[in-house]
Amino acid sequence: MTAQPDPEEGSTRILVVDDVPDNVEILDARLSSRGYEVVTATNGEEALASVSDTPPHLILLDVMMPGMDGREVARRIKEDESLPFIPIILVTALSEADDVVQGLESGADDYISKPYNFRELEARVRAMLRIKGLQDELDQKNRELELANHRLKKLSITDGLTELFNHRHVHELLQDEFERSARTGENVAVVMMDLDRFKAINDTYGHPTGDVILYETAQIIQETAREIDMVGRYGGEEFIAILPETAEDPAAAFAERVRAAVEGHVFRDGSTEVRMTVSCGVASLSAQRVDSPESLLKRADQALYQAKESGRNRVVRASQSSSAAE
Ligand code: GH3
Ligand code: MG
Ligand code: MG
Repeated sequence: MTAQPDPEEGSTRILVVDDVPDNVEILDARLSSRGYEVVTATNGEEALASVSDTPPHLILLDVMMPGMDGREVARRIKEDESLPFIPIILVTALSEADDVVQGLESGADDYISKPYNFRELEARVRAMLRIKGLQDELDQKNRELELANHRLKKLSITDGLTELFNHRHVHELLQDEFERSARTGENVAVVMMDLDRFKAINDTYGHPTGDVILYETAQIIQETAREIDMVGRYGGEEFIAILPETAEDPAAAFAERVRAAVEGHVFRDGSTEVRMTVSCGVASLSAQRVDSPESLLKRADQALYQAKESGRNRVVRASQSSSAAE
């Protein structure tokens, strides 16, 4: 019964490493007859090359070899994090008890003493392959979990419509930037951007067209921003950009580029063509001069309010706005 080859073992590759060619040959013949695919090596370097070329499912590793011995081979394989779990069974003479201990401590998973009984060897091979099967499954599950976590994290910080950062995450990012600014003394700029008379778009063309405009506006802002800038959807048709290490002048220049790009863009939804404008409020300060991220937001918001009040489609800086504090 146990001598029956497992049909699934046909694809199982075992690397046999021994400096004595006869030993290699015997194991090769025996394991091949059981349906395993056997690859061989007669020294440590050859074994490592074979493993990195095509990782086997299991390694039968002679301990005593001239040059790099089995312990060193095991240690190097186990410390290579690019490799999957490969069970290593040390093959050692009975007198080499110290070698066994050191071998297991260098990362080998099991051992068998020479002269070995083939049935026992095969049983150990099967047992190790079962463990590898479970380990591989676990690794796969972990990879899936990591991917799912990554997606979940991304979802939790993203606005579904515009694919920009959502309101909550904008606050987290601003808090981080604020703390950084408090350490470095560098300015943090906040630019608030609000589409002008957007409500009329919904009323005239319908909500779906409004959504298209929101999405395209988000794209325009994102494309205008630098790699290090953070762009979010702050509210319905209100957007925010956090510009690290940016003084008011360049922040206002950024806002002006957004304003001009929105003004110049033809928003299309099917046959509907719409022109839009946007109003922007800009504030930039070092955290060492303002007490909280909220007060920075408030300044940008007040500047935005003033942009609306003074006719829309314009950029107002907090330092020039009539409500500028201090
Ligand atoms: P103002 O120039 O003063 O900013 O005028 P406005 O019409 O843009 O501002 P108001 O705040 O009066 O209206 C904002 C509109 O944005 C109202 C709301 O229905 C719409 N809105 C908010 N979120 C969404 C959304 O996700 N999709 C669409 N299509 N419309 C939205
Ligand atoms: Mg040897
Ligand atoms: Mg608006």
